[in-house]
Amino acid sequence: MRPPARRQRGGVLRRRRRRRGTGDRGKRPVNAEEQARRLDASDPLPTLRDEFLVPPAPGGTYDEAAYFAGNSLGLQPRTVAERLTEELDDWARLAVEAHTQGRRPWVDYHELLREPAARLVGALPHEVVAMNSLTVNLHLLMASFYRPAGTRTRIVIEDSAFPSDSYAVASQAVHHGLDPSTTVVRLEPRPDEENLRTEDVLGFLEREGRTVALVLLGGVNYLTGQLMDMPAITKAGRAAGAVVGWDLAHAAGNVPLRLHDWDVDFAAWCTYKYLNGGPGAVAGCFVHERHVRDASVPKLSGWWGTDPSVRFRMDPDIAPPASADAWQLSNPPILALAPVLASLEIFDRVGMDALRAKSERLTAHLASRLAPLNGLEIITPPDPASRGAQLSLRVDDAGALVRRLADAHGVIADAREPDVVRLAPVPLYCTFHDCHRAADAFVRLLN
Ligand SMILES: *Cc1c(COP(=O)(O)O)cnc(C)c1O
Repeated sequence: MRPPARRQRGGVLRRRRRRRGTGDRGKRPVNAEEQARRLDASDPLPTLRDEFLVPPAPGGTYDEAAYFAGNSLGLQPRTVAERLTEELDDWARLAVEAHTQGRRPWVDYHELLREPAARLVGALPHEVVAMNSLTVNLHLLMASFYRPAGTRTRIVIEDSAFPSDSYAVASQAVHHGLDPSTTVVRLEPRPDEENLRTEDVLGFLEREGRTVALVLLGGVNYLTGQLMDMPAITKAGRAAGAVVGWDLAHAAGNVPLRLHDWDVDFAAWCTYKYLNGGPGAVAGCFVHERHVRDASVPKLSGWWGTDPSVRFRMDPDIAPPASADAWQLSNPPILALAPVLASLEIFDRVGMDALRAKSERLTAHLASRLAPLNGLEIITPPDPASRGAQLSLRVDDAGALVRRLADAHGVIADAREPDVVRLAPVPLYCTFHDCHRAADAFVRLLN
């Protein structure tokens, strides 16, 4: 590898390469860095990296980080500051009047996110609402849709569920007077395998579905990056008589979704990972049309869940609309919604299909560079259709490796102790050159 003469801007092809003589062209072997730069220059979806604030590299030879932690916290779109400033400005100029007189009146600010969010997850507009945070939404949705009765009481999650989901379902069981150790079923991969097989999930639902009240899996697993077969599992769960909800924390903004067509009962997602909505940003939730039309579905209610046309009559009795808005409790945090709005504008412009196509190209490129290396094992499924924008690597001492990736090479990844490193080649702002930097860093660190 040629040592770079000076620090250069990471990722984007900035300098025009000098044309070599024709005799040279195509003969000199192309090194991996050059190949990555060529892939960036020729990709059908040019990088949108310039629309994001990429942090400086903590170490190494490039100014900017190669940022692979967008599955933990996405980067800040440059438009966020402007969107936020507009709301701060309206607050300063108009104060309470901004609820109705602001440039985006706050009383129905959440309406601005409805259509972009619906497009993002494949929903009808009245099936989605932006509110609260992810775990809160899971609880609110379980309050409506986890209705254990008779022998149908069990909740099915995956053994590698994110801890918050494990805690949430266990506490729901307790809330209903049930024993979580027998109520919560944790589906495990086969021995010596890393990922759940769809056929095993379907087989379980066929065999034991009559005891299952709720199936609540991650659409994309946070640890392994496995993309579940959401349509098949939803169909099987519902055929078994269970309610099927999805945690889309790692799926929203990562893979195309068709929640309405798949007949999903409910779903929730956070917006600070692939959706770049900022730390702790307002989450999303989906309730299928057949439930929003059904007034008998029990809900935990608050004043933002009543019909907006009568909200300010301050009646003691709620009049919920036939939409996911009926699950809202409080007036929403405008300053936390503004960044989400800015971010959704980007997704709307690019479209999930184009993003997913690029995501598959980037992840495949990174996989092709990492797979031959000794000292790591890729535990993410090799089939591009069964994974999102993530590769999870089993390594020795993940924490130390991740620190050296950052300090010596400016490559930001994350460690799930003790032995998993996660890399998310996010197609909006990660480049083939970033993938090269990551692979090159692994070569050096594993030697
Ligand atoms: C990130 C993540 C969470 C985080 O929950 P918050 O309520 O947003 O803090 C929960 N579940 C899954 C699967 C996640 O990936």
